[in-house]
Amino acid sequence: MNIHEFQAKNILEGYGAKIPLGLVAETPQKAVKAVKAVQEKTGTKTWVVKAQVHAGGRGKGGGVKLATSPYEVETLASKIIGMNLVTPQTGSVGKKVSRVLIQQDIYYPGEEAVKEYYLSFVLNRSSGKNTLVYSTKGGTDIEEVAANTPHLVLKEEIDPVLGLQAFQARRVAFGLGLSGKAYSEMVQFLLSVYKAYTGSDALLIEINPVVKTSDGHIMAADAKMIIDDNALFRHPEIMAMRDTAEEDPAEVEASEHNLNFVKLDGNVGCMVNGAGLAMATMDIIKLSGGSPANFLDVGGSANAQTVEAGFRIILKDPHVKAILINIFGGIVRCDRVAEGIIEAYKAIGEIRVPVIVRLQGTNAEIAKELIDKSGLKVLSAITLFDAARKVKEVFD
Ligand code: GDP
Ligand code: MN
Repeated sequence: MNIHEFQAKNILEGYGAKIPLGLVAETPQKAVKAVKAVQEKTGTKTWVVKAQVHAGGRGKGGGVKLATSPYEVETLASKIIGMNLVTPQTGSVGKKVSRVLIQQDIYYPGEEAVKEYYLSFVLNRSSGKNTLVYSTKGGTDIEEVAANTPHLVLKEEIDPVLGLQAFQARRVAFGLGLSGKAYSEMVQFLLSVYKAYTGSDALLIEINPVVKTSDGHIMAADAKMIIDDNALFRHPEIMAMRDTAEEDPAEVEASEHNLNFVKLDGNVGCMVNGAGLAMATMDIIKLSGGSPANFLDVGGSANAQTVEAGFRIILKDPHVKAILINIFGGIVRCDRVAEGIIEAYKAIGEIRVPVIVRLQGTNAEIAKELIDKSGLKVLSAITLFDAARKVKEVFD
């Protein structure tokens, strides 16, 4: 699960990492109030107004702006709230902004006086170890740095039993060219962020940039965090941070029905039991000349309710031209599944695209007969090849 920058910063602060003072506002009026509160506490005379969306590259898209007066904050807030923010990470569709973070400007008195570093904790799947990735070239161009000068992006692997050790944090702080107060603050910062990473069951914490302020303090200017969905049950306070407005509506509905669903951009919807079979089905769709509109694993229970939910979710996508149902009846009997499909089809009424059903396993023949005799616009198939051919016919 993704969370917003301001939420990630609150988590980081809870683990002792320094963050700038900021407040979230959903309206320009609230932004003005936030300006005053931030000024009273920090004495700052400049602020940053930051769009809160689940996407990076906001600076490049015009979602991060500097303001030098409360009036300017208000103007920027009214411009950014409600805007459709297009960044290098959102695709051309963009993301609608519903709130901004009003934050003290930690770059004061100017960008020459501050330094920006890149820092992230992520699991390196090939070594099986959490890894601290860091660079002295932090900031909005980190992707170019990684592509053109990869030797400037360094890594520190973390032993899963020992965790990030103080000597490693010191080595990284030294490697970033720090000394004195900034060096010791960076060591503490790294240890705190690592605690936040493991303590929240995060898959990623990325802080780009980490800033050394003109007076030598180390702070998170930005924060991105992805939490492992499978560990969310341990963190109700993080679960409460979920913002479904940022998620694909079909994926939100699927999660309400406990369906494993991933939206894709093809034209053949598919409904399958088992993740492996779902992957194979997507391959078959590709080979037959279509392309999958989704990944959907209905799990062990392919009954009328799950099939109906699956149909409704798949049919939300206007690009879908056919639906392929591929079920292996091992524990679940094919005739039961066929009855479920027929019931679900009738509950929905007329389905606007051809439905191809391939049922294999226990009672497959009986199931095929049930489908064929149902009088519905459903094509049955027993072999995967046969199913693929019927999908292909839809496009010919
Ligand atoms: P991103 O573009 O989505 O990664 O958003 P960031 O939070 O990283 O902001 C983009 C850029 O805005 C940063 O790389 C900084 O250069 C700049 N920025 C962020 N916070 C401040 C701030 O407090 N003051 C100033 N002057 N610039 C900031
Ligand atoms: Mn950033």
